[in-house]
Amino acid sequence: MTATATKAKTEQGGELEAFRAEVRAWLADHFPASLKGVTPAMEGRGADQLSPEMAAWRDALAERGWGAPHWPQEYGGAGLDHAHVRALAQEMGRARAINPIPLLAGMGVTMVGPTILEYGTEEQKQRHLPGIASGKVRWCLGLSEPNAGSDLASLSTLAEDRDDHFVVNGQKIWTSGADISQWCGALVRTDKSVAKHKGISFLMLPMDQPGVRTRPIRLISGASPFCETFFDDARAEKDDLLGELNDGWNVIKRLLQHERASQTSAAGPGGRSKPEALYDIAKRYVGVDAEGRLDDPDLRGRLTRHLMDAAAHKLTAERIAAEARGNPEVSAAASIMKNSATGIAQARSELTLEIMGQQGLGWEGETFDDDELATVREWLWGKAISIYGGSAEVQKNIISKNILGLPETTQKG
Ligand SMILES: Cc1cc2nc3c(=O)[nH]c(=O)nc-3n(C[C@H](O)[C@H](O)[C@H](O)COP(=O)(O)OP(=O)(O)OC[C@H]3O[C@@H](n4cnc5c(N)ncnc54)[C@H](O)[C@@H]3O)c2cc1C
Repeated sequence: MTATATKAKTEQGGELEAFRAEVRAWLADHFPASLKGVTPAMEGRGADQLSPEMAAWRDALAERGWGAPHWPQEYGGAGLDHAHVRALAQEMGRARAINPIPLLAGMGVTMVGPTILEYGTEEQKQRHLPGIASGKVRWCLGLSEPNAGSDLASLSTLAEDRDDHFVVNGQKIWTSGADISQWCGALVRTDKSVAKHKGISFLMLPMDQPGVRTRPIRLISGASPFCETFFDDARAEKDDLLGELNDGWNVIKRLLQHERASQTSAAGPGGRSKPEALYDIAKRYVGVDAEGRLDDPDLRGRLTRHLMDAAAHKLTAERIAAEARGNPEVSAAASIMKNSATGIAQARSELTLEIMGQQGLGWEGETFDDDELATVREWLWGKAISIYGGSAEVQKNIISKNILGLPETTQKG
C-alpha cells in the first residue's frame, strides 16, 4: 500500500470511529430501553397498532435519515456509504435497537424503493420515496397469480389504457401484507398481442380504492401474512407507471434481484438466536459425555458441519459486501446467496427440532416453554423461505444460465 493510500485509510478509520461515537450518543438520547430487541411485528401488524414509544423511535430514525440510511438525503435517506451503513447497523445491534422502518414499509425499503431509485422519474422519486423512508407508507407486491408463479411472465391481470389512467382487472395471490398496505407495485399485462415477456408493465397503485379487495390466507404455522388480491376496475394513474410501457419484465428482474439480495441472512425464519447457541441447546437436551462434549457423536458431527456452513455463509456475505464497497449494484449472484441462506436456515430448524425431540413439537400447553413453542412454528414457517422471492429450483436455473453460462432448460418461460 502506498503512503497516500495508508494515510487515506487511517483518516477514513478515524472518521468512522467518530461516526460510531456519534451514533452511540444519538442512541443514548433517542432509543428507549423498553424497545431493546423489540420489533413492530411483536406489537401488532400495522403502523396504527404501534406503541407511542415505537412510533416516536420510528420518527426519530426517519428524521435522521437512518430508516433507509443508504438512500440519498433528498428522498428521506442519509446518503451513507457501505462502511457507514455497516457501522450504523453494528452500533444499533450492540444497543439491541431494531430499525422498524424496513419492516413497517413492507416491500418498500428492500425492493420497491431501490427499483424506483433506478427506474423512477424525478417526480416519482419525490412522491414515493420519502413515505417509504419514514416507515409510514407500506408497500406490497402484486406479482404472483393463481396461474403464474415461477412462470411469472404468464400473468394475465390486465391494465387497459384509458387515456389519462389505466383500469386494472385480475387476481393476484400470496400478496404479502396486502391487507395492511397503502400501495401496491403490480405486474400487469398491457399488450396481449406480443410475446409474453414483452407485453408486461409495472404499475404502482393505491390500495385504498373501491376496485381493490384483499382476502387473507392462513398458513400452516398459524400466521396469516399474505392475501389474495382482487382488482375489479381498479385505477392506476399514468404517472404511476414505473419504467417504460411494456418494459415491466426488465423492471421486475431488477426488483427480484433486490429481493434476493435482501434475503441472504441465514439467521433463520425467526432469527431468534445466533447459530452458535445451537450447540448449547443441544447440550441441554441431549447431555454431555465425560469430556464435556455433546453426548451423541453423529449429531455432534452434523451440528459441527452445520455451524461451519453457517460461518462460511456469513463470511462470504461479508466478503461480497466488502468487495462491493458500497456499490449498490445487485447481480444474479444474489441467487447463490439466497439459496445458501435458505438452506442453512432450514437445516438449523430441522436440527433444532431433532435436538428438542418431542419437546420441539409442541403447539400449545404448559408442558412446553416459549422457545419450544416457537421452534415448531419457525420450522413450519421455514418451509416458505425457499419458495418466496423465487423458489430454490428457479434460483438454480438462474445460476446455471446467468452465472455458469449453461444452456437454457427445456422448459420455456
Ligand atoms: C411466504 C410467502 C410470501 C410471498 N409473498 C409474495 C408477495 O408478496 N407477492 C407475490 O407476488 N408473491 C409472493 N409469494 C409467491 C411466490 O413468489 C411464489 O410462491 C413463487 O414464485 C413460486 O410460485 P408458485 O407458488 O406458483 O409455485 P409454482 O411456480 O407452481 O412451482 C411449484 C414447484 O415447481 C417448481 N418449478 C416451477 N418451475 C420450475 C422450473 N422452470 N424449473 C424447475 N422447477 C420449477 C418450483 O420450484 C416449485 O417447487 C410469496 C410466497 C410465500 C411462500
